[in-house]
Amino acid sequence: MAKAMAGQLHRRTEELARHGVEPRLAILRVGDHGSDLAYERAAAKRCAALGIGVETVALPGDAATEAVLEAIDRINADERIHGCLPLRPLPETIDDSLVRHRLSAHKDVDGIGPASLARLFTGSGEGFSPCTAQACLELLDYYGVAMRGKHAVIIGRSLVVSRPLALLLVERDATVTICHTKTVDLPALCRTADILVSAAGKAGLVGASCLRPGQIVVDVGVNVSGEGKLRGDVCFEQAEPIVEAITPVPGGVGSVTTLVLCKHVIQAAEDSCGAGRD
Ligand code: NAD
Repeated sequence: MAKAMAGQLHRRTEELARHGVEPRLAILRVGDHGSDLAYERAAAKRCAALGIGVETVALPGDAATEAVLEAIDRINADERIHGCLPLRPLPETIDDSLVRHRLSAHKDVDGIGPASLARLFTGSGEGFSPCTAQACLELLDYYGVAMRGKHAVIIGRSLVVSRPLALLLVERDATVTICHTKTVDLPALCRTADILVSAAGKAGLVGASCLRPGQIVVDVGVNVSGEGKLRGDVCFEQAEPIVEAITPVPGGVGSVTTLVLCKHVIQAAEDSCGAGRD
């Protein structure tokens, strides 16, 4: 899927190049947290391969909120930049809400600002869907998984992944249940799912007791094991023989997420030169 999607996106950047436009992403990083640097590297590599320019705006870990807002103002005003990805969570000393509200909706390619959230709620308007939630939807679409009338169970209620995904799935006529740490009898609820999405960040949370044949399992979780290996929330070895389909970790949702980010930057560039959305 990633290969097919990359091919389509590359054709779109070539078309933009014919119009003299290079899609450009600004990555805004505060500090040098390892997971931020890893995501920055992955996104920059993907962008470069697709003909998307990247510039990193790096501020020290002790930067004040005002310095971050000034950096966002510069990005908003820079016509060469079409999208901005602030790496989050930001340090606790920075007012995340002010940052989210400052970024121009046209450049909010990870869907964190108020206009993007309103778009999620209403299904129309400015901004973009959060990349990870959108990646789950694109995976289901690519593999022809019907959502209409299906029961989707999402483990997790975060603003970053799970709640946006719940809204996207409702928009696609699924019946959605959101589970969290206070949910009673998680395995029984999971077994009622046609589509099970886990975004808890707990390795091995979803085992055989949560699964039944015929299910589609999307594993969003990324957990680093003691040996430094990446693992999902789902115990893949137990799930794979039971369910209809499952996304692996690594190589599943994460790979598609960076492609969705690229797609949003390309869309923003197309919008800026009047080419419109696909
Ligand atoms: P978060 O910590 O904000 O939210 C986790 C949610 O899971 C919470 O709402 C919590 O209630 C729920 N949860 C935790 N343990 C649970 C349990 N035992 N039973 C039921 N519910 C439980 O995390 P997040 O930012 O939403 O990210 C979730 C996971 O997805 C993390 O592993 C993160 O690394 C990963 N992630 C992956 C991508 C990607 O592109 N693949 C992108 C973002 C996040």
